[in-house]
Amino acid sequence: LSRFSKLQPVRASGPFALDATFRADPDSKKVNLLIGAYRDGEGNPWQLTSVANAKKTLKIETCNHEYLPLVGSIELLEAARELVFGDELLQQANNSIASIQTISGTGANSVIAQFAQTHLHPANIWLPDPTWENHYSIWDQNAPNVTQRRYPYYNDCDRSFDFQGMMRVLQEDAQENDAILLHACAHNPTGLDPTREQWQEIAILCNEKKLFVIFDSAYQGFASGDLDRDAWAMRHFFRYPNIEFAVCQSFSKNLGLYGERVGALHVATSRTCSPPAGQCVQGHLIDIQRSMCSMAPLFGARVATAVLLQPDLREMWKTDLEVMSGRIKAMRKALYDELVILRTRGTWEHIVEQTGMFSYTGLREHQVAELQDVYHVYLLPSGRISLCGLTAANVKYVARAIHSVVA
Ligand code: PMP
Repeated sequence: LSRFSKLQPVRASGPFALDATFRADPDSKKVNLLIGAYRDGEGNPWQLTSVANAKKTLKIETCNHEYLPLVGSIELLEAARELVFGDELLQQANNSIASIQTISGTGANSVIAQFAQTHLHPANIWLPDPTWENHYSIWDQNAPNVTQRRYPYYNDCDRSFDFQGMMRVLQEDAQENDAILLHACAHNPTGLDPTREQWQEIAILCNEKKLFVIFDSAYQGFASGDLDRDAWAMRHFFRYPNIEFAVCQSFSKNLGLYGERVGALHVATSRTCSPPAGQCVQGHLIDIQRSMCSMAPLFGARVATAVLLQPDLREMWKTDLEVMSGRIKAMRKALYDELVILRTRGTWEHIVEQTGMFSYTGLREHQVAELQDVYHVYLLPSGRISLCGLTAANVKYVARAIHSVVA
């Protein structure tokens, strides 16, 4: 008998377990629409041109491997802040913003959950329904004393963003000092974002209710191809001097640095408080992260800093973002066009209207199962597809498979 015998086996998390099934599937027609990582037109992982060139400038053979400071790379943090808030708003920040480098977006989400539980004591964390499935575990593990609540986000009948539902529930049930998680852009998994007018109303509500806002920003620049456009909501909230909010910033997707784990956590504290709380909060963020992992990794920070700060690389990066977001939009259109040509039952405009890496297709669980079993096309049971898995070579096949399962 082992002390571990009583442990219940853990079910592997959805997308990762399905990905293993996909890998083991010997069928040559198989298509992977599961995983949230960019693929090029041939279906292969893609190193951004800006990243490849950044690595050449690093002279990596002669770099040492010292620890970063606990806060992370100072240069990276400055550039990362500028990306979120923009130069103009940063002028008004006056030490009100705390920032630390994190183990990508997941690390930032984990640190802010612990920080919120320990120092802010919200009664509830409001998560969108649905959301990235890891949000539930991150809050479970890091902030078990904060009650998880869900606000409506998705209207199943017309596959739209449920703005009314969200506002009603928050208006009625959110309490002062509750925390709320908002996806900064390219909502995962629905691909549906609030309009600017809706963001304005959400900001008013958060301000009135004195909510602590947490923006999860995993797709800046990747959604629209434009870094400023994708930062609009966060910058809008910053204009309310008393909305205090965190930004969990990931460079996994927009720099294609998935495995290098590059990210940052920023906390914008009140812009009217004197003295500003930024530095004090930063100390606490460092303190929490110290026990988790001491500090974030160095290599990815070096690469990201070079791309963000060297003007020629930054220009290349803008083109890279347009290449990635452009290919995804083209694949949305290609899938939509094929379904229209086939006269597939139902309406499919939502595929082109949604934004970011994913589409919530509206396919039902039994249809998803049939796609996998009969056609070897893999997607999540929720009907979420990653557009990155589509290529010119497989989109017709995928459309025909969808056509057959909804017929
Ligand atoms: N938030 C959201 C909404 C995501 O989709 C992801 C990646 N799937 C992340 C955070 C975190 O990714 P990473 O830890 O690689 O930055």
